[in-house]
Order: sequence, then C-alpha cells, then structure tokens
Amino acid sequence: MSADAIKLLKERVFDKSRWMQMPRDVVIGHDVLTQIPAVCDDLKLGKTALIISGKSTMKLAGNRVREILSGNHTVTPFFAEEISLPVIKAAEAAAANADFLIGVGGGRVIDTAKIVSYNLDRPFLSIPTAASHDGIASARASVSLESGHSSLEAQPPIAIIADTAIIAQAPHRLLAAGCADVISNYTAILDWELAHRVKGEEVSEYAIALSKMTAEILVKNAGLIKPHQEQSAWIVTKALVSSGVAMSIAGSSRPASGGEHKFSHALDRLAPGKALHGESCGIGTIISMYLHGGDWRGIRASLKSIGAPVTPAEVGIDDAIAVEALLMAKDIRPERFTIFDMGLTRESAEKLVQMLYRE
Ligand SMILES: [Zn+2]
Repeated sequence: MSADAIKLLKERVFDKSRWMQMPRDVVIGHDVLTQIPAVCDDLKLGKTALIISGKSTMKLAGNRVREILSGNHTVTPFFAEEISLPVIKAAEAAAANADFLIGVGGGRVIDTAKIVSYNLDRPFLSIPTAASHDGIASARASVSLESGHSSLEAQPPIAIIADTAIIAQAPHRLLAAGCADVISNYTAILDWELAHRVKGEEVSEYAIALSKMTAEILVKNAGLIKPHQEQSAWIVTKALVSSGVAMSIAGSSRPASGGEHKFSHALDRLAPGKALHGESCGIGTIISMYLHGGDWRGIRASLKSIGAPVTPAEVGIDDAIAVEALLMAKDIRPERFTIFDMGLTRESAEKLVQMLYRE
C-alpha cells in the first residue's frame, strides 16, 4: 500500500482531533499578587499590558497589580463597568498596543478580558477578586446581547493568579454562588450522559470524572466553607479552576453546564438582575436532580449549609416565574439536550416548584 493509501485508511479508521486549551500557570494562595512579575516572565508575555477592571475592583486589587508591575512594565488601566459589545470594542481599541491583557475583578471583568483577548489574539491573565463562578478559568464567556444572554467561545486565561486574601474579603454571597456553580456539575454530567444515551452525543469520560470529583470534593468540604476565611476561598477557587479544566478537556462547557444552566439563563431573561449566576444554577440543580431521580435532598442540604439560596423566593423571584423558566429552559441553546427536553409539562413544573422549593 502506498503511503497515501495508508494515510487515507488511517483517517477513515480514526479521525478524531480536538484542541484542549488550558491555563499554563495557576497560582492560588495568600498574597500571590506579588508573583505576577514572575508569572509574566515565565510566560514571556512582553512589557506592555492593559488592565481591565471595574471601579471598585481597581481599588481593591487593580491598582496594586499596576504598582507591582510598574517596575518593568508599561501598564494602562481600562474600566469596564458592564459587559456589552460597545465596552468590548472600546477595550479592544485601548489594547491596540498591549502585548497582553489582565482581567482584575469579578465575572463581568474577566469575561470582557477573555473576549478581547480572543478577538485580538493576545494572552490574558485572570486575576479574580471573587470566586463566584467557573468563568475565572474557562474558555467560555457570557455577554448579554439584545436577544438575551449569550455564551461566546473565547479562550481560557494563559494564567490564573487568585489571591485568597482578596477573595476572602468579597461578600460571602459571591463565594456561595461559586460553590453552587460547582455543585451544579452533578446535574450537568447527568444531562450529558442522558444526551449520550438518547441522542448519541459523544462524551468525555475524563472530563466527566474530573467534573464530578470536583463537585464531590466541594460537597465533602461543605462544612469548611465559611464567610471571609482564606481556607474557604482556597477550596472554592481550586474547585472552580478544576471545573474550568474539565471544560477544557471536553472542549465545551458540557461537563459543567446542563439544564440547570439553561434554567439559570431563562431566569436571567425573565427576572434580570435578581440571582447571581451560580445561585440560579444551584436552584435549578435541585429540580434537575429530582427529575433525574437522584439525591436532590442531598444537593439542597449542601447548598443550604454553604449559604447558597435553595428557593426562588430567597433571591426575590416568584414561583410563577420559576415555572416559566423551567418551561423555557429547553428553548435556550436547544442543541444542548438535557432532562428538560424529556417532556416536562406545565402541571408538573408547577407541582415541582411547590414541592421542591417548600421549606
Ligand atoms: Zn456556570
């Protein structure tokens, strides 16, 4: 057989290929901002940076990052108070001469840096000031478009520098939301496995194992998740990074985003600004776990012990809106098959909200 024929045969037999893009340096711990110059040197990032941050997060950490880098870097600040296409465009213009980007802040800031980094093809450092969702480490960014929330493919940070002293100062509500985002991995995986059985969707066993283990470790350590403790910040940040890596292995957000995330996006549309991302995912996970026939009481108890909300009422959302969100979930990213595609009726949705969200 000719070399070409062998190549052709091989291609026919085995044609899988996938990129797994992951962060190169992950530094988590007390006062690790001081290690930023070492990380920049290690990754040979260049000498010019744009820091994307919010007003309060610039005060909290952004200015310190500038100071630390000012010795041998030129650093320009950029304020992103919201995430929107105009802000992204403005940040891109501001980053024209930057070798790399630094996102210092919460979800919106990190997501803005992520999208700008992707559009300009320049690396970015993720410096979270709160551990509120797994976007601090993942390739996906959510941006709200006129048509509603949308999840964009971007690229993962080249490095994550998470200072537990700063993260521990953030409101506990943010940390609890981060925990709920990780706990929702349980149902995200069940949905992925369901899609595999029903639709033949390909799954990654490595991604599933890592995502599930991450949620299990977090639940096992739920008793250690307390307000304003560096140890808690450390446990949750590691879990969020680990979830991000599971998504990198999968090449999609599948291992950490199932029906409960679609429910969360539906709630964002129906009751904007009420619940944090992780909070509504946690609330959705309870119902999703019930529908999967799993231990929904255990999920609810873990969320409660961490201090995350377990009912729509706790985040100021009426039961009727929660019912609408449950019914709308299947229409958000319809290509992503989940338990909510299995024929949930309005009557059942109403009953479930009454039953599962009762104290
Ligand atoms: Zn999430």
